[in-house]
Amino acid sequence: MSKNSGINQKYPILEIDLNKIYQNTKYMVDLCDSRGISIASVAKGFNGLPKVVEQFVNAGCKYIAHSRIEQIIKLKEHGINVPFMLIRIPMFSEIEELVKYVDISLNSELETLNRIEYECKSQNNNHKVVLMFDLGDIREGIIDEKEFIELAMHVENKLENVQLYGIGTNLGCYGSIMPTKENLGKLCDIAEKIEKNIDRKLDIVSGGATTSIPLIIDGKMPNKINNLRIGEGIILARDLKDYWGYDIDKMNQDTFVLKAQVVEIKDKPSYPIGEMFIDAFGNKPDIIDRGIRKRAILAVGKQDFASHDKLIPQKQGVEIIGSSSDHLIVDVENCKQEIQLGDILDFHMYYSHMLYLSGSSSVTKVYV
Ligand SMILES: *Cc1c(COP(=O)(O)O)cnc(C)c1O
Repeated sequence: MSKNSGINQKYPILEIDLNKIYQNTKYMVDLCDSRGISIASVAKGFNGLPKVVEQFVNAGCKYIAHSRIEQIIKLKEHGINVPFMLIRIPMFSEIEELVKYVDISLNSELETLNRIEYECKSQNNNHKVVLMFDLGDIREGIIDEKEFIELAMHVENKLENVQLYGIGTNLGCYGSIMPTKENLGKLCDIAEKIEKNIDRKLDIVSGGATTSIPLIIDGKMPNKINNLRIGEGIILARDLKDYWGYDIDKMNQDTFVLKAQVVEIKDKPSYPIGEMFIDAFGNKPDIIDRGIRKRAILAVGKQDFASHDKLIPQKQGVEIIGSSSDHLIVDVENCKQEIQLGDILDFHMYYSHMLYLSGSSSVTKVYV
């Protein structure tokens, strides 16, 4: 906490440590490289902030991936010069931009692929595709092996400007299915069948996201997987530690820090006074009466981070008790050092906070 330091800076601040992000990325690039796996680093979790993406490139990521074309365009204009991968299945309405700006996209629909071909022809351009197979997470991808191989053969034989670059899968997102040696092994079997049919190697067999990293650490990743699309695991690396029990001590979790300013500090009853109805978001609050407590209000709110759940206060004794659109309320009764008006409190965060805070125009981004 920096005391009363917030006079010249515009709070709330999202402080981003570029060096720590570089270190995380480099560690993961080296780890994957030792198993012959390239990384498409995923920039969607922090709204594609170009300075962060620069660290990905400097650390040796082979591809930059994003779910949103407009941010890929922004990154290209910024001068990022590595192949870009669109990791959300393209909309019909963005195919023109897709062909114009994006090198590789993940796909699962025959009609979309045909339209990409048509657009490539009219732009006199080429486009690479990675076809998505669904191993059971039931988000994107084709679930039937025969249909999948037929689609691959269609791209290979019928489309001229659309190139079959590889195949991939996504796990652990909607259906929360764990990547395993068995399910990724299935993807590898299919890759081999396709390679036999087309009589060449696929460039990419992409075996998932951050949730596939434990397989590498445990030495259980099937050999044929040669690419992962990693976001959270290089930026915050918190999920691996907290949900999977893999504490990689080389990874920094404090790459993104929220700094917010105290605008009110008062002793107040901890239980509301009057007849309780619903809060600003239509929920019935669940509040425990702890008597009179010292509380502080910080000038940041749901509009900036969506949910205060799991934000991690850095000052000992600070306890988050609630938030509304523009206010974060903390109990500071147990703080040893007295909190004062104008003080700045720091919070570490999870993926969802990073996603919203980085996208909020009222949050100042500061790089260290
Ligand atoms: C978001 C996403 C990723 C990256 O996920 P992380 O958990 O951040 O590593 C990879 N692939 C696809 C298709 C995605 O949508």
